[in-house]
Amino acid sequence: CGIVGYVGDNKSLEVLLGGLKRLEYRGYDSAGVAVLDESGSLGTRKRAGKLQVLVDDLADRPLGNGSTGIGHTRWATHGGPTDRNAHPHLSADGKLALIHNGIIENFAELKAELLAEGAEFTSETDTEVAALLVGKAYAESGDLTEALRAVVQRLHGAFTLLVMHEDQPGVVVGARRNSPLVIGLGDGENFLGSDVAAFVEYTRRAVAIGQDQIVTIRTDSVDVIDFDGNPVEADEFEIAWDA
Ligand code: GLU
Repeated sequence: CGIVGYVGDNKSLEVLLGGLKRLEYRGYDSAGVAVLDESGSLGTRKRAGKLQVLVDDLADRPLGNGSTGIGHTRWATHGGPTDRNAHPHLSADGKLALIHNGIIENFAELKAELLAEGAEFTSETDTEVAALLVGKAYAESGDLTEALRAVVQRLHGAFTLLVMHEDQPGVVVGARRNSPLVIGLGDGENFLGSDVAAFVEYTRRAVAIGQDQIVTIRTDSVDVIDFDGNPVEADEFEIAWDA
């Protein structure tokens, strides 16, 4: 279970795969990425098995190496370790990609609600409800941070969530409750990771994210709010250990 997010120059795939490699020690059974390619379209690739299975697949069938991306290693809790259950999961319109570490305890009731509205599921995960709900909220508000904030208020359990949207290049939004997430500060680029190992290759400047907080990273800014929408003053620290 590892999470990486990136906004910056056209090297997202390289950062995501390098970060996931450094997070391998956490254990996982599947891996996946979503990136906005150089032309701005969202591509995803996800595979059960070792990270190398994903890397080989990407070599055979390349995705762009654009400016915005999210990467995930999964430790299956709901639904077996299959390609379909691997993350990212997509919104109904396919424009929003979401990754999740943790467990959404009330997913069954949220799933029942979505099914009653005619939603279609492509996986057996607890995670997919969050992808569909954030996609729906974004379609209504056009604000990715607010869409994620509205949805996390309805979730019970432990989660680190990252989302990105095809219409929001250069933006990744994350949220955490009872599950880790840390910001890496770059120059014209910013990072998110389950821990600093995800981005230590690129920066030694990091910012901790507190419990029940939401972070929006762009190439030139990092904004943290709490689940009620109040701004949070974030504390920067230097990563001291040897990479
Ligand atoms: N509960 C989610 C799933 O089974 C995420 C598991 C994880 O933390 O990787 O897909």
